[in-house]
Amino acid sequence: MVSRYRILGMVWLGLLAFLAGGCGLLEAFTVPAPDSLTGEACFSTPADMEGPYYIPDAPFKDALYPEGTPGQRLVISGTVYTAGCANVYADAVVDVWQANANGEYDFSDQFIGRGRVKTDANGHYQFETVVPGLYEPRPPHIHFKISHPDAAAVTTQLYFAGNDNGGVADALVIPLQQDGDTLRGTFDIVLSPR
Ligand code: FE
Repeated sequence: MVSRYRILGMVWLGLLAFLAGGCGLLEAFTVPAPDSLTGEACFSTPADMEGPYYIPDAPFKDALYPEGTPGQRLVISGTVYTAGCANVYADAVVDVWQANANGEYDFSDQFIGRGRVKTDANGHYQFETVVPGLYEPRPPHIHFKISHPDAAAVTTQLYFAGNDNGGVADALVIPLQQDGDTLRGTFDIVLSPR
């Protein structure tokens, strides 16, 4: 025989699930909002110019420049979110390319300063590189193309706080934190559905 308490418990659980589902709270609890977006509306990552130096089909690799390359070592990581930050995209492709510390792009078949990484099951990606130099008239930046079969691909650029970034969208400017010999920055991305 089912006890009265158990029945009451089931009613409460059902009511809670109904309320949570109806308010979208279940999704909110499943995936916490990214730090950079906390307390703000979750907007799709704005696009920015592709520029003339993109080369498609860069290899998948964790470090855009080999260890020992001149420049300040930098680790960029983040999460690729669905619209509204309700969920994340696993297996999204983050295609990045940038200038070296002297502001020079590589055009060899070695894809130096170029590479792709994939997001894991939690939508997380990370790559290691060096802080890009500026090449006049551009402020230091890293080019991004982010794609997933279920999302509209976005081509954009990432900039760094403390530079004269010429009025680019705030969502494309991140601070960098010193961590030993390395600088670290978080760039969360929000894609729109196709
Ligand atoms: Fe560029």
